[in-house]
Amino acid sequence: MAEPALGDAQRPLRVAIVGSGPSAFYAAEALFKADGSNVRVDMFDRLPTPYGLVRGGVAPDHQKIKSVVKVYEKISANEGFRFFGNVKLGRDIAVTDLQAHYDQIVYAVGNESDRKMGVDGEDLEGVHSATEFVGWYNGHPDYRDLEFKLATAQRVAVVGNGNVAIDVARILVRKPDELAETDIADYALSQLRASSVEEVMLLGRRGPAQAAFSPKEIQELADLDGVDVVVSTDEAQLDELSATWLEDQPRSAKRNVEFLQEQAGEGAGSNARRVVCRFLVSPTEFGGDGSAVSSVKVERGELHADSRGTPRPKGTGEFEDLDVQLVFKAVGYRGVPIEGVPFDDGWGVIPNDEGRVLDARDGNRVDGQYVVGWAKRGPTGLIGTNSPDAKETVARMLEDIAGKTAAALAADDADAMPSLLAERGVEFVTLEDWQRLDAFERDQGQKAGKVRAKLTSIDEMMKVVRDLRSTVS
Ligand code: NAP
Repeated sequence: MAEPALGDAQRPLRVAIVGSGPSAFYAAEALFKADGSNVRVDMFDRLPTPYGLVRGGVAPDHQKIKSVVKVYEKISANEGFRFFGNVKLGRDIAVTDLQAHYDQIVYAVGNESDRKMGVDGEDLEGVHSATEFVGWYNGHPDYRDLEFKLATAQRVAVVGNGNVAIDVARILVRKPDELAETDIADYALSQLRASSVEEVMLLGRRGPAQAAFSPKEIQELADLDGVDVVVSTDEAQLDELSATWLEDQPRSAKRNVEFLQEQAGEGAGSNARRVVCRFLVSPTEFGGDGSAVSSVKVERGELHADSRGTPRPKGTGEFEDLDVQLVFKAVGYRGVPIEGVPFDDGWGVIPNDEGRVLDARDGNRVDGQYVVGWAKRGPTGLIGTNSPDAKETVARMLEDIAGKTAAALAADDADAMPSLLAERGVEFVTLEDWQRLDAFERDQGQKAGKVRAKLTSIDEMMKVVRDLRSTVS
């Protein structure tokens, strides 16, 4: 008998999605919505909890952004969907296991590390990546045990001018009481209550016109109770190159400049806490007092057009020392390589052509392997950007199975992955486990007057998962 077509009702397409952040869910959604296709999606995450940066990255005082999980809940309600939490690719399962059990693999692994600046003193105590701080206040198991000297620092430098830099600054200066009802980790809230931080300096290496943050985010800082946003009139001015360049930029860049110039007109303010926006300053060295950071040396820059006309900073040889007791580098995220998965070390992404994974050495297609999200295009864009990005990859996946046939699946095919994990002693979290854990966290939160009380260690999560399982079996 002829083999059924791959993706038909007789022979569903089996897809493994590695990662469970926004890009993973948008890929699952595009697969489920594909015309006439019959798809089964198994989604894996190394953590017992899904949602990637929506849980571990989006700031706790941005609950509206986090409400996007309602969309993901609908996607996971599809009967072809399964979740395997607490399963790490490269530790519990290998790419070859996925190849043995699925027709296609989608990497939705994001960018789990941070970009290095490559300047002296980056390893000093008190110099942290924003990735660490964001993970810490969000209760991410990897970062919960970190320590930040909030109780002794008065002045903090945040390097970078993106939305992550703004998130970090806002959490540092916002009144802790305003965070109390969110899902911020309890330990983070108590340390923020004991914080002595008075000033956060945002260090931009280019000018106000090139700031990467969104107008809404910088405006939100200025709207905070008890906080001034301070910009010097000098640094708010545009040089000639930026003024011309800005004419062709999106409205958001113009709004940033208008806002920063207005803010410059407001002067220093008299609030207890302030965020000072500095422009055209590039950190060249972090200085230490013993092993701890005590200063940032910055070099003033001026902008020159590169070959495409984009203003780029160039040092002027004029330096300034800024006294700081804490530094957060918010200069962008970076992917980490996974055993058996091609990796472009220069860009920190999985090499690909419109989502089709390419061999890092010869650039040839790697059959059946695809990538979405930050692992595909690098750490840019908002949550919603991942939807068209995932659709593009899924379109290529469907093109690649068009006209293909495959042997019918064994009756117990769906049991193969759970059995393999059980054989290896991998205790995985199912969708139902997660739903109970989710309800538990929300319930605990409600009792404490907050939206959610997050569990922050994997052991703790797994214990609760087991306890909750026993209540239903
Ligand atoms: P980003 O937007 O790429 O910003 C990185 C910043 O670091 C830029 O200002 C960049 O300056 C600067 N930078 C890079 N290397 C540097 C160096 N060596 N020295 C000094 N400055 C340096 O990245 P992000 O802030 O990590 O955010 C990642 C993505 O997530 C963005 O798309 C962002 O919008 C999104 N996000 C959104 C929200 C939100 O909507 N609320 C919150 C968080 C993150 P240059 O421009 O000069 O390179």
